[in-house]
Amino acid sequence: MTNPADIFDVTIIGSGPAGLYGAFYAGMRGMKTKILDALPELGGQLVTLYPEKWVFDVGGFPKILAKDLAKNLVEQAMTFGPTVCLDEKVISVKTHIENGAKIFELATDKGTSHFTKAIVLTAGIGAFKPKKLDAPGISTFEGKGVYYFVQEKKVFEDKDILIVGGGDSAVDWCLNLLDTAKRITLIHRSDQFRAHEESVKALLTSPIEILTFHELRSASGNERLEQAVIYDNRTHQEKTLDVAAIILNLGFHADLGPIRGWGLELDKGGIKVNYRMETNVEGIFAAGDVASHPGKLKLISTGFGEVVTAVNFAKNLIDPSAKVYPGHSTDLKSIPNGKMGS
Ligand SMILES: Cc1cc2nc3c(=O)[nH]c(=O)nc-3n(C[C@H](O)[C@H](O)[C@H](O)COP(=O)(O)OP(=O)(O)OC[C@H]3O[C@@H](n4cnc5c(N)ncnc54)[C@H](O)[C@@H]3O)c2cc1C
Repeated sequence: MTNPADIFDVTIIGSGPAGLYGAFYAGMRGMKTKILDALPELGGQLVTLYPEKWVFDVGGFPKILAKDLAKNLVEQAMTFGPTVCLDEKVISVKTHIENGAKIFELATDKGTSHFTKAIVLTAGIGAFKPKKLDAPGISTFEGKGVYYFVQEKKVFEDKDILIVGGGDSAVDWCLNLLDTAKRITLIHRSDQFRAHEESVKALLTSPIEILTFHELRSASGNERLEQAVIYDNRTHQEKTLDVAAIILNLGFHADLGPIRGWGLELDKGGIKVNYRMETNVEGIFAAGDVASHPGKLKLISTGFGEVVTAVNFAKNLIDPSAKVYPGHSTDLKSIPNGKMGS
């Protein structure tokens, strides 16, 4: 029998924007809340993939750096004092019936177990790994001029840089590094950009040199990267560029890893959910990038809405006397330990 003190009302797996906002919301609904993340810090993609990128499309913030948005989300998430366990990747889930109620037991790669009445999965694209390029010199200079993530813009200060890719990451980094790098060249293997149309418009009118139908052949240098050889994939003609950095944006492996084995119904977009953000397993909800439903948009703002739905239905599931719709935040002054309202 599990010690009741160890059982949480809800455990949120993944501390990206959806998970952090979900933790705040669960606290506001008086739920005993735990956040688990495989990474050593809170913030998900915001802090891992693009901390110094501007984000323009989150309500209430005309413009905010991803790392600052993460900082605000963490502050808000901590309002009701959730338990936070970092650097623990959830591997498996088992269920027990105790006193007639379903309890989930989550096991992590640290050998720990976590007990919870409901789960909100906000695991994003899983423990993300960038797709790597297998070309001469690329792995040799990884971290010494070849990058898959941009952690600090100052690494690229006054440098000639080559950006590879045609999606949001590549185009966003071109635009975000305009004020930092000396010169930026973008190569893309076709002439069709998959990035946000406004970003592509901005790219096309920027001073960035854009070479479509070009790919990276190799990288070379001494201690650090010094040159990149690119080629035109129609003519196979090569060109050598003097560059101090290459940023490869070839996408990510969206592998949910162990979560795939949990008996959750999946489709191409992630874990299938209904309008209540319920998965096919009662008590397990999903929200944010990991959740898939018709018309899904993988954006920070949609994740916020989805996680509110997930948490409210989780609350009602574990306590059927609680309404799904809690009213407005100003109506919630009586929440235990609540710090809302005055
Ligand atoms: C370069 C780039 C730019 C972007 N720009 C924008 C933008 O301007 N506006 C916008 O709205 N969106 C943007 N996005 C998309 C946005 O980042 C995502 O929609 C958002 O981060 C999804 O949030 P999330 O909370 O669902 O998941 P994530 O941010 O992916 O967080 C998921 C968390 O779950 C953890 N996790 C995964 N599996 C496990 C496990 N088994 N155990 C424990 N923890 C686990 C991960 O470690 C991670 O911390 C951008 C994305 C990229 C790549």
